Amino acid sequence: MAVERIHDVVILGTGLAGLRCALELSRADSGIDIAMISKVQIMRAHSGCAEGGTGAVLNEADGDSFELHGWDTVKGSDFLADQDVIQRFVECSPKEIYLLEHLGLPWSRQENGRIFQRPFGGHSYPRATMAADKTGFMEMQTLYDTLTRFANWTNYHECFATDIIVQDGEFRGLTFIDSRTGEFVIVRGKALLIATGGVGCLYGFTTYSQTVTGDGQAMAIRAGLPLEDPEFIQFHPTGLVPSGILMTEGCRGEGGYLRNSAGERFMDRYAKEKMELAPRDIVSRAETTEILEGRGFEGPEGLDYVHLDLTHLGAEKINKRLPLIREVTMKFLGLDPITTPIPVRAVSHYSMGGIETDINARTRCENIWAAGEVACASLHGANRLGTNSTAECLVFGAIAGDEILKYLKKKKKPADCPAQRVATIEKFLFDDLMQRNGGENPYHIRKELRVAMDRYAGVFRDRDEMNAGLRKVAELVERFEKITVEDRSRVYNSNFYNVLETRNMLLLAQVLLTGAVLREESRGAHSRRDYLRRDDVKWLKHTLVTLDDGGLKVEYKPVTLGKWEPVERKY
Ligand SMILES: Cc1cc2nc3c(=O)[nH]c(=O)nc-3n(C[C@H](O)[C@H](O)[C@H](O)COP(=O)(O)OP(=O)(O)OC[C@H]3O[C@@H](n4cnc5c(N)ncnc54)[C@H](O)[C@@H]3O)c2cc1C
Repeated sequence: MAVERIHDVVILGTGLAGLRCALELSRADSGIDIAMISKVQIMRAHSGCAEGGTGAVLNEADGDSFELHGWDTVKGSDFLADQDVIQRFVECSPKEIYLLEHLGLPWSRQENGRIFQRPFGGHSYPRATMAADKTGFMEMQTLYDTLTRFANWTNYHECFATDIIVQDGEFRGLTFIDSRTGEFVIVRGKALLIATGGVGCLYGFTTYSQTVTGDGQAMAIRAGLPLEDPEFIQFHPTGLVPSGILMTEGCRGEGGYLRNSAGERFMDRYAKEKMELAPRDIVSRAETTEILEGRGFEGPEGLDYVHLDLTHLGAEKINKRLPLIREVTMKFLGLDPITTPIPVRAVSHYSMGGIETDINARTRCENIWAAGEVACASLHGANRLGTNSTAECLVFGAIAGDEILKYLKKKKKPADCPAQRVATIEKFLFDDLMQRNGGENPYHIRKELRVAMDRYAGVFRDRDEMNAGLRKVAELVERFEKITVEDRSRVYNSNFYNVLETRNMLLLAQVLLTGAVLREESRGAHSRRDYLRRDDVKWLKHTLVTLDDGGLKVEYKPVTLGKWEPVERKY
């Protein structure tokens, strides 16, 4: 029997987006009772790993402008982003930098004491606002520190959310397993924010923490909410070989080069003007092409690579601006980037799509909002620019907070949650899934899924490969029915959480590949060998995937255009 908890607002996910929303609510009214739910401890959210910077226009006197940040973002998105969302985003992000500054965040500084910003890929002005290469950690720490001043929130950390219950277009409750006690809990609230982050672990070679498994997207689609543009996955050009750990784009922002096995700075063949600081989709394709055409280095486990060369930057710059990069390469490879180039290749890094929201971070359900990487207000379109994600978490976390505040004024009490629905979920989880004993190892299924996604839905795609991917996922879904769950205990059962995550990942892999096979064009990060060009006549539109009678239904909706006309994308 589930234990019931009731709060005013339920925030699912305590990364940058979740914390920023909680701060907005608490600052406005410290009487609002908030549940903060996270499957890991608060500071373990993946946001703490963000390295390179947060994008914001701080220097209008020197030539930067909202217009320029907006244009860079829309061009970076290959014109699929919604332009009203971009406009609002660029205008709000500087306020977030100053807010964090006032809360005590130690931004990197210029000699004259002003905030320092470095160049980043696809941006035509240096606007990556940073705390060396530990930006996300400092942002998380500042938000969390500030939140500890308020007593209005309950910390449900190490609690694994399983399902969102929606009825009659309204949020009724969220179920989770409290790892610490083993209790199954139904939490009700007047409003829900989903801020569960991305889907990075769908791929084997990824920059993401092992916990980033797309649970929020999977819960949302099961609850009837559409996922938008799921086919667009960003590959970051510089994943450390063989671990996949991110070598921040800040390395190239500080002047690092990419070289092939002949020592050439090959980017001049692909983006003559921007070179290493072209957007990520373009640099990742360039690198992959170099490797495929035999100009890479042979790496372990088939992970051939190119070099990220920082040796000309000098020890002082590397130690001051990229200390984490040096620490990581020394610890993981015994390699000092001051003297030796770093082996890197394109690595799965970010999901541009997510739960469909409007410009106010609201989903199609009237009291559910989504913000951060889990959401798709469509700021990034087909390809995100570096630094725009942490900024998005802050901006849309705050917007969601404001919108929820307005909603709470109207909504006097949480809606009832149908007990039958909770009982059905509980029965499925503990009497069916947890008891399965069919012999299939769920860890093998998860691993095979990730290998398949690397292989069939990577930097370059084509129909046959993606269909092979869909067949592989279908096979894994079937095998998942026959898994054996070894550990049937309730407290800290990480074996069972792995099973729940794998179930979510299998669903999302189907969603991603389905959207990708249907989109017969190349746009941004979705690059098809069988459809080499962007096709604005047929495909200047967003994909929307829903679950319909157990199957996937795909629809489309128009892109919100504006003053920036789609043109050929050159760098
Ligand atoms: C290595 C790395 C470096 C990056 N560097 C940058 C950068 O320099 N600049 C930039 O703009 N972007 C960067 N990004 C991207 C950016 O960091 C992320 O997109 C962003 O931080 C995501 O924040 P979030 O709040 O949406 O989610 P996250 O920080 O991922 O937090 C998700 C939260 O949801 C919780 N959760 C998930 N599932 C469940 C569940 N089932 N039950 C309960 N809780 C759950 C988690 O516990 C966690 O608290 C980087 C990403 C990586 C991986």
